[in-house]
Amino acid sequence: MYFSNSEKEKIIVIGGNVSGLAAASQARRNASNAHITVLESGEYISYGTCALPYFISGIVNDFNKMFAYSIDFFEKERRIQILLENKVVGLNPQKRQIFTQTVGSNELKMIGYDKLVICSGSIPIDLQVSGLKAENSFYLRNIKNALDIKNYINNNNPKTATVIGGGSIGILAAEALSKIGIKVTVIEKDQNIFNDFENEISSILYKMVVLEGIEILNNSSLLCVSKNDNNVIKSISIKNKEKTENVVTDLVMLCTGINANTDFVKGTSIELGKNKAIKTTQKLQTAYSNIFAAGDCCCVKNIVTGKYDFIPTANNAAKTGRIAGENITGGNYVFPGSVGTKSDKVFGLEIAKTGISLKDAMDMQFNAVKITGSYDSHAKAIPGIDAITVTLIVDFRSRKILGAQMIGKEGVAKRIDTFATAITANMTIDDVYMLDLSYSPGTSTVWDPVNKICGKAILELSKIRF
Ligand SMILES: Cc1cc2nc3c(=O)[nH]c(=O)nc-3n(C[C@H](O)[C@H](O)[C@H](O)COP(=O)(O)OP(=O)(O)OC[C@H]3O[C@@H](n4cnc5c(N)ncnc54)[C@H](O)[C@@H]3O)c2cc1C
Repeated sequence: MYFSNSEKEKIIVIGGNVSGLAAASQARRNASNAHITVLESGEYISYGTCALPYFISGIVNDFNKMFAYSIDFFEKERRIQILLENKVVGLNPQKRQIFTQTVGSNELKMIGYDKLVICSGSIPIDLQVSGLKAENSFYLRNIKNALDIKNYINNNNPKTATVIGGGSIGILAAEALSKIGIKVTVIEKDQNIFNDFENEISSILYKMVVLEGIEILNNSSLLCVSKNDNNVIKSISIKNKEKTENVVTDLVMLCTGINANTDFVKGTSIELGKNKAIKTTQKLQTAYSNIFAAGDCCCVKNIVTGKYDFIPTANNAAKTGRIAGENITGGNYVFPGSVGTKSDKVFGLEIAKTGISLKDAMDMQFNAVKITGSYDSHAKAIPGIDAITVTLIVDFRSRKILGAQMIGKEGVAKRIDTFATAITANMTIDDVYMLDLSYSPGTSTVWDPVNKICGKAILELSKIRF
């Protein structure tokens, strides 16, 4: 049942980016008379978070290109009120009230609502090392962070940078800084970078990153920082298995992971799961019938494991946002869940994954087998050939594909989508081995790498006895 046009309900959306604006827009499509307001804690809305590293490196050279839609567009075309610099700090679901603070003021403002959509995204994990808050230390999470980094670089001309954390954001930041001539060191607590990937895949990226001049100090964790009187970090102290080391640095990037941004729901019956993300039904509804949540701040169903999971991607944020907006205005959409598909491009290498890792598969009691192969990206006769390395995680008994990962210079990020589809459709290695995938000499081989790795998996599984 949708709103009738005579109703004038008050819908508040917390968060003015991917999921929040998708929710507000969908609510407007369904409820033309509702009063819809987006509360955004920052100064900007509708920005391309994923393009932040490219803004720092200068590949995106026009600040205006960082925005998908203007405030004017939302206010005039969609009749959605946007309130910037309004941070939601508390919530009273019984009284249908939220409490906000404007920037630079301690005063609390109460706003009433009929329906609420929480789309507050995620925030960087605080490393709990004293002294990290400094003039030259930065997170990379939003437009303000990127502007601060750019301004600092322009005004101080740093020669060296240290990135704490070798996950995707850390390595994208390292690439961006090195592209503008800064010598970068990455501190990673594990053996490998991109450690949500299998070793067979991430070690190829590791070699490329080192080849491009980035120093990686692996198995190392941050101990403390030394600063000068101007609150500028001059060096950091790290500890690895053998010794303690000092790294002199002009700039520090803190990229050690994220949690859902949900502290303001404390004291309510809204339940939190992995990484403090809000638990919702598959219709994105919370414990309260008039409060929905979407995007990075909420858990989604992991299609492979069937469990609530924290899978913070823009693709999930856009879809869950739209569904939350649909359902808060009387719709009945179900978000089927996510297989955790993601891709990145670093120093010309595409790296992508979907589904679950071998470790997660083992933890879930699957009889999981890992198969890896390396294949030509296209026919040998055509110049520019490169290797695509593929790793599959397969359940021995059902022969279903549980996870797939790939790395290579071309055709990786979009090839992973075939596996995302196969996993979602519960397909086996036998199904995908015979899948009719396109061929032309410049784009693939007659048996595409996707078919080939499944052929290899069929062979390997025939040799195994569990
Ligand atoms: C550098 C970088 C690169 C990325 N690259 C990719 C990529 O290539 N592909 C991909 O799929 N994903 C990528 N991501 C992840 C992607 O950006 C997020 O999944 C996506 O932005 C989530 O959208 P969201 O609307 O849920 O949250 P956000 O985009 O974080 O938006 C939440 C908004 O809520 C506001 N807010 C927070 N708290 C409050 C409050 N209390 N009151 C009011 N407003 C509040 C915030 O200021 C923010 O504007 C990247 C992320 C980063 C940081």
